[in-house]
Amino acid sequence: MQNIKMATKGASENVELGFLEETHPDLLRSHYFPSKVGGKPSWLSLTQLPVEVNCKVCGKSAIFLLQVYSPDEKVSSAFHRTIFVFVCRNPGCSIRNSNINFMVFRSQLPRQNDFYSPDPPNENVKTDGPVPDAALCRVCGALGPKQCAKCHLASYCSKDHQVIDWKNGHKAMCLANDKTGKTDVKGVLFPELELITESEEFDDVNSDDESDTKGENEKWQEYQDFLKSDKAGSLIPDTAAKSELEKMATAENMDDKIFRKFKERIKTNPEQVLRYHKGGQPLWVSMNHIPSETDIPACSCGAKRQFEFQVMPQMLSHLQVDQLGDSLDWGTLCIYTCSNSCQIGNSYQPEFIWKQDYAAEEQ
Ligand SMILES: [Zn+2]
Ligand SMILES: [Zn+2]
Ligand SMILES: [Zn+2]
Ligand SMILES: [Zn+2]
Repeated sequence: MQNIKMATKGASENVELGFLEETHPDLLRSHYFPSKVGGKPSWLSLTQLPVEVNCKVCGKSAIFLLQVYSPDEKVSSAFHRTIFVFVCRNPGCSIRNSNINFMVFRSQLPRQNDFYSPDPPNENVKTDGPVPDAALCRVCGALGPKQCAKCHLASYCSKDHQVIDWKNGHKAMCLANDKTGKTDVKGVLFPELELITESEEFDDVNSDDESDTKGENEKWQEYQDFLKSDKAGSLIPDTAAKSELEKMATAENMDDKIFRKFKERIKTNPEQVLRYHKGGQPLWVSMNHIPSETDIPACSCGAKRQFEFQVMPQMLSHLQVDQLGDSLDWGTLCIYTCSNSCQIGNSYQPEFIWKQDYAAEEQ
């Protein structure tokens, strides 16, 4: 049954779907090379952790959203390779169709590296594994260069996280000079879950063929150009305005079509929270705010960045943001990374994220 499905046109298209599963948290530590959502980051390189994981809007600490383990077999320095995504949870920092409150980093290591055994870990024998030798923030797991002035045992990324920890348990720990107590502050970190992947299989009866898609891409581009020209709100001769309005009407219809296509494609696997398709095309939720090639900056090594994976809106329901009244929201988040997986040693290389929200009518 499965083979028959796989054999049909478009059955896989090399898209790997991500789903969330509960697992023992010990299996999500760095030396198991996990893909996961929430909790603290399980850093791959254990030195040179990113120093600036701050929101570009409010300046406060961004919180770990997810990491995807995705080695690049073609590159020996990327025998291990993990992409990390961070987001600021402050509702005021979420801006429509803007990536400003997100951060992405790539870390990669050769098989022979400074931290891990060249042999695969044994999941049946749980070990603590290596951890960064730098102090980490007790609240969020990012670098913690600041220390509690009283006990000098607790480290923090920021004053904010120190205050949160103080109110949520460190006060007692501090007075007792207890180094062991852990912090689990509700509402700061996202719930921790394992991200597992499976090849996509879907019933493609209703999907469009390639040529149709290409035509649509060109139309999106035209529409984008129209929006960028910003004629919609300016005074233009009647006839021109009329034809622009006609274009808008067509655009709206097309947008319905994109959104319909999006819903159609995910229907078979409605719980998917991530789509991994390195070098492929994202599945857009709207025809608005689709990047052109020039919108995706090249890597600092000079190589182009290519699409690697997208985070789906279904992810939001697992993050428990609604209960908190947060306005953290997206249609889809598309991650673009260096197409060469260039050598970066033990450092964390910033990569690129593109946020697309739903078209206004679907909100
Ligand atoms: Zn912010
Ligand atoms: Zn912190
Ligand atoms: Zn203290
Ligand atoms: Zn590069």
